Amino acid sequence: MNVLVRNASMLITCAGDSRPRAGASANDLAIIRQGSVVVRDGRIAWVGEDRHLPAGLAECREADAGGMVVTPGLVDCHTHALFAGSRAGEFAMRVAGATYEQIMAEGGGISASARMLREAPDGDIVDQTVGRLRRMLRLGTTTCEIKSGYGLSTDQELRSLRLIRQTSHRVPMSIVPTFMGAHALPPPWRHDRAGFIDMVVHEMLPRVADEKLARFCDVFCERGAFTVDESRRVLEAARGHGMGLKIHADELAGSGGTRLGAELGVCSADHLLRATREDLQALRDSGAIAVILPGTCLGLGKTAFAPGRMMVEIGLPVAIASDLNPGNCYCENLPLMVTLACLYGGLSIEEALIGVTVNAAHALGLAREVGSLEVGKRGDLVIWDIDDYREIAYHFGVQLARTVIVGGAHSD
Ligand SMILES: [Zn+2]
Repeated sequence: MNVLVRNASMLITCAGDSRPRAGASANDLAIIRQGSVVVRDGRIAWVGEDRHLPAGLAECREADAGGMVVTPGLVDCHTHALFAGSRAGEFAMRVAGATYEQIMAEGGGISASARMLREAPDGDIVDQTVGRLRRMLRLGTTTCEIKSGYGLSTDQELRSLRLIRQTSHRVPMSIVPTFMGAHALPPPWRHDRAGFIDMVVHEMLPRVADEKLARFCDVFCERGAFTVDESRRVLEAARGHGMGLKIHADELAGSGGTRLGAELGVCSADHLLRATREDLQALRDSGAIAVILPGTCLGLGKTAFAPGRMMVEIGLPVAIASDLNPGNCYCENLPLMVTLACLYGGLSIEEALIGVTVNAAHALGLAREVGSLEVGKRGDLVIWDIDDYREIAYHFGVQLARTVIVGGAHSD
């Protein structure tokens, strides 16, 4: 598809260093005033000041962005968007002061999502997920990672990943599938933890790899979920199958997940609320991206947030994602996460915008494809109904994206 977006008052290109952005480069949005972008055959063919626009582009459909801001399409690099049903009742219990144990006793938590997933027909799960992805798209997200993890059995995990593939054919968005078989220990395995890990390693992973159902493998390394040694077994096996690695690390307690991520060379380590400065330095030295998920803190009603400022200060590249999930963060709004990362993570607005574009693309291994407006990359961009990019953080929680273009095509 061809499109010409003209005359943006601020064209936020995020162009520059091909490496993840840390330090000063995380504050440089590479803004072009009165900027235009040409997308041809789905790829960016030209970017620059409108007055330098080459002649002979008349065949392009034209979109006037006069007085508005244009950014790259946003990249949401951590979601659990594939799930069935609602846990609103559980949310109401939490609001009324119920403890996690009480909620579990009522059949809540991940096992509630696992039950609803198992009982729902494929079509319903796909329709519900597509609805969420469309909301994300309207708000500006054009690339989205989705994890499995509510299956808790080989058949349901494979089914989840196949359904993620089906949803990707229904939404004009780039979807990155991640296998997360080790999300929670199902109750029947409570007395045979090693047996469950054996099943993930010897049964699930080979079949996921055979069917090429996932680009990444993730694991919930946390007190109450999986230990460092269990997580290591899963991730090492996944690496043997050629998958990229991710880890949910040090969210609720300092459990060693960040160090493990650094040791194994993960592409990203996510959450990191309880990671120490030394943990984060090890992560930096390993070349990983730190993904912070401030919506989860909001959804849990917690006041603790990941130390975003410390990450930036030590030169660790930071990405921000929604963590969209049915338990503690049912929110499709990635721009809102930008606001939260600024207010509670201590990031500058520029650092936060780099966190949902370039650095998020790196967290998915897609930095050559998406995350900035540079010649050759996918024609994914957002025209925002604002005249200053800082409004994205400042004016929060509402619809500011006016037009979302994916691969040169309007998504609406
Ligand atoms: Zn998560």
